[in-house]
Amino acid sequence: MNDLHFSYSTLKMLKEASHCWINKQMGIKPEETIYMTQGTEGHGIIQGHIGGITPDPRLFFLKDRFMFVEKRKFDPEMKFEIDINGYKIIGFLDADNPPTKTMGEIKLSGTPWTQKQFIDSFQRKIYAIAKPGYTNAILITGSLNPDMWVKKDFTDPENQKLWKKGELFTYDVPVTDKDREEARKWIIEALTIFENGDFNGGLDENGRCNVFRCPWGKNCHFKQI
Ligand code: SF4
Repeated sequence: MNDLHFSYSTLKMLKEASHCWINKQMGIKPEETIYMTQGTEGHGIIQGHIGGITPDPRLFFLKDRFMFVEKRKFDPEMKFEIDINGYKIIGFLDADNPPTKTMGEIKLSGTPWTQKQFIDSFQRKIYAIAKPGYTNAILITGSLNPDMWVKKDFTDPENQKLWKKGELFTYDVPVTDKDREEARKWIIEALTIFENGDFNGGLDENGRCNVFRCPWGKNCHFKQI
């Protein structure tokens, strides 16, 4: 096995915008945004609650419990490594409950995820390879702002307007061997782009980027030339 390792986000980047690999190789970090800071805070609150470490009254309706949760970014306790075609694929689970063979994922954003997005997510499918006997995955998704999570009195018409924006949703979906097969194929496709040195993906014929949302933002190397 060689020393290179790939996370889900790096593999996704190779598939959707392989030119971004150049930024990564140059050690350029994605632009820090308010969303990243808020997301980290929200993750910590939910993980403390579902891990039974710091139950939060705002999350009284969230009953799922996990034996292990990520306690800090890149928590080594939550790390996994899998070997595909001699490459190391790494990742960190948000939550893990071995007794029920259930893994947990948290996605906080302006628009909460749908169940279909979670079912289709290659991140979930890759994590399924890392947890071979697991049969279940739970997604917790909602607003980036923890103050929006409080369940409201929905008989109040004003609160009914807030409903879609604020509530945390949980989706419980099965994890199957088909997910694992699809993930392997998807990973190999991304690694093939890397092996072929095809780092023009996501650029138009003039060499300009055509990626709508890009985490590198103003830090991007291509914007300095
Ligand atoms: S800002 Fe544009 S060129 Fe730079 S990495 Fe992002 S998409 Fe690519």
